[in-house]
Amino acid sequence: MPPLPVDLTIREALDLARAQGLERVDAHLTLGHLLQRQRAWLLAHDDERLGAQQSDRWRDWLARRVAGEPLAYILGEKEFFGLHLRVSPQVLVPRPDTETLVDWALDIVRELRTQRPHPDAPLSVVDLGTGSGAIALALAAHGGPLQVTATDASEGALNTVLANAQALGLTVRCVAGHWLSPLAGERFDLIVSNPPYIAEGDPHLAALTHEPISALTAGADGLADLRTLCRQAPDHLHPGGWLVLEHGWDQAAPVAQLMHDAGLTAVGHRRDLGGVLRCTAGKLPET
Ligand code: GLN
Repeated sequence: MPPLPVDLTIREALDLARAQGLERVDAHLTLGHLLQRQRAWLLAHDDERLGAQQSDRWRDWLARRVAGEPLAYILGEKEFFGLHLRVSPQVLVPRPDTETLVDWALDIVRELRTQRPHPDAPLSVVDLGTGSGAIALALAAHGGPLQVTATDASEGALNTVLANAQALGLTVRCVAGHWLSPLAGERFDLIVSNPPYIAEGDPHLAALTHEPISALTAGADGLADLRTLCRQAPDHLHPGGWLVLEHGWDQAAPVAQLMHDAGLTAVGHRRDLGGVLRCTAGKLPET
């Protein structure tokens, strides 16, 4: 490609992206975001110039993308369960797979509500290791009357959750700390979590170097935090309350065993969009 001017046209900006190996759809999405324009507008205005400052910014974004940085960090946002969430490198990028967990949690909320003498009384839900707040905020947005608590050991994560909650007009109580330890003496109708579950040394981590390692790995087998959660949950559930966990593709059986060992019943699984057994849930017996 001949040397490009400092101030790129839209066509040149897209050609540059293609030359660097960016998918066309990614390039349109990213450039549309930079210019605050729809894809159709980009296509109809490919002679328009970006301006020198936007062109520089585009070159910077492309370099970061080519270096493997997730698009969500470059844009500073990610859509999850219909919500526009702010994300930063301090939190895991919310994955579509995790919508399986939210769907299941919402089904449980609806089911629990039908069993209550006062169906309008808010149920209590906690999302442990909330990160961007994706799960907690999706439940607050779609779960009807709920008291939603979110915990995280990372101060940066909790700041992200609060910013997201404020931007979305949702209420989530944020508590700093590891798993259930900052919630001594409290019980919930529903405990949910997408904890770190990748084994240290797993080759998949090579593709995830831009995300916080503390949100990804959990011990030699990836089960360390899932173990803690299953062990702590029964003391923090109301009778008949549920624990719902996301986990790795090969962890459904060990997580079911951990739930059985913790005294939970009705243990079952749900598959993600790719057909993988991605979530496991169990219930604290009524009596
Ligand atoms: N599902 C993520 C991945 O495999 C990992 C998220 C997690 O560890 N909770 O990329």
